[in-house]
Amino acid sequence: MKDAPLYLRPRVDPPLASLLGNAPFLHSLVDALGSPLNVLLPEVVAANAERFQSVYRRHHLAGRVYFAHKANRSSSLVRRLAACDPAAVGIDVASLAELRHALGCGFTGDRVMATGPKDREFLWLAARVGATVNVDSLGELEQLAGLIREYGLRRTDVLVRLSGFEADAGTGGAGTRVLSRRSRFGTPVAEADELWAALERHADSVDLVGLAYHLDTTGLDEKSRALEHCVLLMDECRARGLAPRVVDIGGGFGVGYVEHADDWERWTTALSEAVLGTRSPLTWRGHGYGLRNEAGTVRGSAALYPAHRPTAGPDYLDELLSRPAPALGRPPATLLLEHLHDLYVEPGRALVDQCGLSLARVLEVRPLGDGPDRYLVRVGMNAGDVSLEEHGVLVDPVLLPRGGPAHETADDGPVGVHIVGNLCLEADLITRRLVFLSRLPRVGDLLAFVNTAGYAMDFHAHHAQRQPTARTVAVTEEGGTWHWCPDEDYWPLTHPQGVPS
Ligand SMILES: *Cc1c(COP(=O)(O)O)cnc(C)c1O
Repeated sequence: MKDAPLYLRPRVDPPLASLLGNAPFLHSLVDALGSPLNVLLPEVVAANAERFQSVYRRHHLAGRVYFAHKANRSSSLVRRLAACDPAAVGIDVASLAELRHALGCGFTGDRVMATGPKDREFLWLAARVGATVNVDSLGELEQLAGLIREYGLRRTDVLVRLSGFEADAGTGGAGTRVLSRRSRFGTPVAEADELWAALERHADSVDLVGLAYHLDTTGLDEKSRALEHCVLLMDECRARGLAPRVVDIGGGFGVGYVEHADDWERWTTALSEAVLGTRSPLTWRGHGYGLRNEAGTVRGSAALYPAHRPTAGPDYLDELLSRPAPALGRPPATLLLEHLHDLYVEPGRALVDQCGLSLARVLEVRPLGDGPDRYLVRVGMNAGDVSLEEHGVLVDPVLLPRGGPAHETADDGPVGVHIVGNLCLEADLITRRLVFLSRLPRVGDLLAFVNTAGYAMDFHAHHAQRQPTARTVAVTEEGGTWHWCPDEDYWPLTHPQGVPS
C-alpha cells in the first residue's frame, strides 16, 4: 500500500520566500558557482537584531544584542551587523580567528564579547582592543589578570559565566532540589566565593561588569531560575564592594523551522509507529532518532530539535522576561528594571533565522527496490554541507525544477525520496528520513534547504574526498530584482546602481 505523504514543510518568510520564488536566479547562481552553494540575506540579520531590540524597548530595558558568531562563518552577516546601531548590537566571538574577523568587519573592540575556551593570544587581543571578556573559570580569570599586568594593558571589563544553578526536581517531593544539567563551561555557583575573592584581588586589572550564563535548553523555567539567581548573586557582589550591572543570559532562543504544528505532530507520531513496526519504515534502515522498540513499547527519547516552535527567537525572549520567575514570583523584566541592570543576550541560531539557504544540484535519481514510489536522490553536496541532521533539525527541502513549472508532466505526484550525498560513504545521508517531495526530481533540478544560516551551512563543512565546499554569496533585493556578490566582497554600502559592493 502506498503511504500517505508526510511533510515537514519549512517556514519561509519574506524576503526569503521571494528569493525562493525566483528559481531561474538560483539556477543561474549554481550554474556559475557550483553545487553546493550557500546564499545569505544580510538585510534579514539586521531586521532580526531590530526585533530583539524591540523586545528590550517593550520592557524598558537597556543593553546589547550580541550575535554569537559561531553560528555562521560568513563575512556579509557580520559586516551588516557591524553597520547596526553600536549601542544596540555587538558580537560574541568564541575564538581568536572570530575576534580578528569581527574587528576586520568593522566591529570596534568595545562592541565585542569574548566567550568560549580561550588561549593566551585570544585573551591578549581581547584585552588589547578593549573587548569584554566573558570569563569561564577562576583559572582563566587569573591568566587574564596576569596578562594585563605583564603587558601593561588597560583594565578590562569582565563578565563571569556561571553554571550549576539550582532547578526544581520536577514532580519530586516538596523542597527537592537538583542542579541544572551539568556543563563543561562556566564556574559552578557553589564555587562563586572564590571568584569574588579573585575579582577583588585583581581589581586593578579587571572590572566585574556583570554575571552571565548560557544554558543549552529550551526550558523557560530553567532559564528564568538562572536569571533571578544572577540578580540575587549581584546583590551579594554589591555587598562586597563589587559593582556588576549587567545580566548576560546567553543564547538559545531557538528557531521554528517547520511551519505547521500538524506536520510535526503527524510526523513524530508516525516515527513512533514506524519504530513499533505498525507502519512502514520512515527512515533509512529503520533509524529511530533515539527511539527503540522494547517488547512492543517505544523507549528512549527522540534526539530531535523541536522543529515546530510556537514561540521562538525574540518572542521567546519576550516570554522569558514576562512570566513570573519561579523563586521570587516576579517577571525577570521587573527584577532587572528595579535593580537598574542592563540585559545582554547572545543569540546565534535565532539571529540568523531566515537569513540563508543551501542549494544542491540533483545528480542522480534511482528507484529503490523496497517499496513503491521510493527513490534515492543523490545531490552535489554531502552531509557536512547541510548539517541539519547533525543538529536533529528535520525540515523538508524545496524542489526547484530546472525547467520551471511548465516542465511538469501529468503523472507527477508526491513521492518519497532518500537524499544522499556525494561521498563514497554509506553514512553520507543528507536526511536519514524519507522526504516527501511534490514530485520526483529530475537530474539538473535544485533542492533548496531553507533557513540553514544557523549552524547548518558551514559549521560541519569539510574537505573529505576533495569534494568542493560550498561557495557563499550574499544577495540583496532592490526594487524586485535580486543582486548577488561573493560573501567576502559584500560591504553594507549602497552603490549608485543599488547593487551591493
Ligand atoms: C553557542 C553559544 C551561543 C548561541 O547559542 P544559540 O543557541 O545559537 O542561540 C551563545 N552564547 C554562548 C556562550 C554560546 O556558546
